[in-house]
Amino acid sequence: MDFILGERDKMVQAAAKEYAQKAVLPLAAEIDRTAEFPLELAREMGAMGYYGLAYPAECGGTGGGYLAYALVVEQISRASMTAGAIVAVSILSAESIYRFGTDRQKRDFLVPLASGEMLGCFCFTEPATGSDPRAIATRAVWQGDGYVIEGQKNFIALSPAADIATVFAKDEDGKVSAYIVPASAPGFVLREPCETLGLRGLGASVVYLDGVRVPRENLLGSPGSGYEPLLEAISVERVGVSAQGVGVSQAALDLSVEYAKQRCAYGRPIAEMPTIQWLLAEMVSRMEAGRWLAYRTASLRDQGLDIRNESSVAKLYCSQMAVEVTRMAMQVHGSYGTMKSMPVERLYRDAKMTEVYVGVSEIQRAIIARHLLRQ
Ligand SMILES: Cc1cc2nc3c(=O)[nH]c(=O)nc-3n(C[C@H](O)[C@H](O)[C@H](O)COP(=O)(O)OP(=O)(O)OC[C@H]3O[C@@H](n4cnc5c(N)ncnc54)[C@H](O)[C@@H]3O)c2cc1C
Repeated sequence: MDFILGERDKMVQAAAKEYAQKAVLPLAAEIDRTAEFPLELAREMGAMGYYGLAYPAECGGTGGGYLAYALVVEQISRASMTAGAIVAVSILSAESIYRFGTDRQKRDFLVPLASGEMLGCFCFTEPATGSDPRAIATRAVWQGDGYVIEGQKNFIALSPAADIATVFAKDEDGKVSAYIVPASAPGFVLREPCETLGLRGLGASVVYLDGVRVPRENLLGSPGSGYEPLLEAISVERVGVSAQGVGVSQAALDLSVEYAKQRCAYGRPIAEMPTIQWLLAEMVSRMEAGRWLAYRTASLRDQGLDIRNESSVAKLYCSQMAVEVTRMAMQVHGSYGTMKSMPVERLYRDAKMTEVYVGVSEIQRAIIARHLLRQ
């Protein structure tokens, strides 16, 4: 067992850190304030190869693997969790096409997604369900020479800038299938953005599918097998959310150390107080545990292993850890931590989002317990 990053991974990590601190951090507060999708930044990150980190060159990727994906998401999230989430979420469509797509689908969709020429969104959640796939109400009906999709999807991240969407819908037999839908298709209508507490600017919006026609060749995988691309893609994205939790926690820790050194109470820096030192030590220990859990899960995926259970363990731990660590950072900052002008306030709101999106913590616990009891 080797807990040291290899040379190539260290280079990816260092380059992402430099880029994030120089190009992403200065935009973070404004992205949060306006909640507008940062299109230019999203394109730039695509051009840098950040949406194809996990995939080989013939698929349009850079061949870094899933660990490189986790390292980059962590560093970008350290600067702006919204920007980190753009990289993290972009893997959903790419992963499902990489695992289940035909050669034509890989050529037409995966290569442009991985190389950053296209952006994809992933449409699963609906007004009546985010956790229970059986409750999906969106329908895909075979008509003439293709499918016609009718339904509504909520909270669809990246949708304002997406070129394609992976859409989950039920067929006439009630089975869920996945379809690749060009966002330019008539009837693919973007409605209101969802105003959220954190991850503002991720473009999470309501999408309507008003009789969208999709050719047979855009069915992803075999008819009725939609759960497979869904579960595979989501398990990889959970590694991304874990890395986001680590990145936002590192940012909170960095700010707390600086603040504790310069803020004085009773004539001395608060960093000298055992209570503050206790908080800082707790923050580091919890974050380091989450970091290695996220890296390990990514490495397991790099070895071709099934990470459906492991990614739930990592996401459950890292999301709870991020909420706790950013809460402790707020405490180190006293009342100033609650001010809108202080970055730590944004980090706390962003951290909370990791507990709900890409599956709530209760769902992660259910997956973990099911796996444990089946063994
Ligand atoms: C910023 C953001 C971006 C998002 N991006 C996307 C996206 O790109 N694509 C997409 O499809 N979705 C996206 N989502 C949606 C998100 O993944 C869902 O909202 C999430 O999975 C939870 O679904 P829900 O809100 O419907 O919760 P519900 O399923 O209604 O659950 C509500 C609560 O009920 C409890 N609960 C539900 N089921 C169980 C269970 N089985 N066991 C125990 N307790 C349970 C939990 O306490 C849970 O918190 C995004 C959401 C946000 C906030």
